Amino acid sequence: MSSRDRQLDRSSEESSLCERVSFEAPADYSRAKVEVPLVYQRKKGLRRLRMGFDYENRLIVSVPWNCPQREAEEFVRNHRGWVEEQAARLSPVLTLREHLSHCPTIAIGGQSVVVEVRNVASGRSQWIYDEKRGEGIFMIRAQSEGEDLPLRKLFRKVATIALSDRVGELAAVHGFNPGRVTVRDQKSRWGSCSRNRTISLNWRLLLFSPGAQDHVILHELAHLRHLDHSANFHRLLSELDPRRAEFEAELNRDGAQLMRVDR
Ligand SMILES: [Zn+2]
Repeated sequence: MSSRDRQLDRSSEESSLCERVSFEAPADYSRAKVEVPLVYQRKKGLRRLRMGFDYENRLIVSVPWNCPQREAEEFVRNHRGWVEEQAARLSPVLTLREHLSHCPTIAIGGQSVVVEVRNVASGRSQWIYDEKRGEGIFMIRAQSEGEDLPLRKLFRKVATIALSDRVGELAAVHGFNPGRVTVRDQKSRWGSCSRNRTISLNWRLLLFSPGAQDHVILHELAHLRHLDHSANFHRLLSELDPRRAEFEAELNRDGAQLMRVDR
């Protein structure tokens, strides 16, 4: 059990029993009580009970296939102190609109773009981008209150175009020949590169700084030559991205927060 976020493979077969439990949080936490959604997942081949938080701030308890349910519940009860401490330290899950109101800067084409979300009463939702000034407006056709679907849809459309274009630009600069680029809503990864040369990127990469976004793209491009994390891969990545240490530090620092946007 580690204090860091775990990357959990939720695609595996699971019998999950979802319930909500409340834990009292330490006094210094801004909210008096933290609700911790709890999910039990049975896994074949797992030898010991394990748990950790995912990016929806759910406590995922991984249970060996034949372990009795009461033993799993006892395991959670016995680690209550750990759960409370971790729950109090988790980054909040923010909607995209909330995130952009705190951090109104995104990365497009290797530059920082200051964005505004503006609600309009009529007309289509649209993205207005002034590349020269590095400014953009998400014009959002107002729907019922609290309904953020038009913003989320438009943002992902912009992310798909911007990230695909950026892959093309960096591939051209460094002499790579990627296959298809897909932009998706991954649960825990920023990017991946498959054997058939498809590069998949998380739409939330738009929320990073230009350098950190490029770093993830260069990492995936480097996989076109080395489909592993061998010494050769790392040597190539350091050549492609001489400032990688700085951007890796940024991903470590902000990644857990940004991975939680719009869950
Ligand atoms: Zn990799």
